[in-house]
Amino acid sequence: MCSSYHLNVADDPKAVCPECRRYMSTAIPYIARTVADNKSSDERGYVKGVVTYMVMDDLIVRPMSTISSITLLNKFNVKEVGLLEERVVNVDMAEGLKLLSASLHSITVLSSVFLGK
Ligand SMILES: [Zn+2]
Repeated sequence: MCSSYHLNVADDPKAVCPECRRYMSTAIPYIARTVADNKSSDERGYVKGVVTYMVMDDLIVRPMSTISSITLLNKFNVKEVGLLEERVVNVDMAEGLKLLSASLHSITVLSSVFLGK
């Protein structure tokens, strides 16, 4: 949605809010009807309602929040956020098998599969 929280939404973060001309770059949860309807009766496993999750290198899954993100930046001694790199990865059958294999003998699963480390 609009980064100034005007009530405009877009599917492209480079779209511009017609009210304030800022990018529509603030992520907000999309509530699918089935998720909303089943929320109370079907909350099992990791995914509980509309929460963003973070998967760590050792495949530990945690809910993601601003505070947990800052804690992680501190933990890994990241001084400059601009030096971080975003990578989008595709997981097909081959990657799935590599992930499964790496998870059995490594604690740096994502690094070893996607960064070749
Ligand atoms: Zn706006």
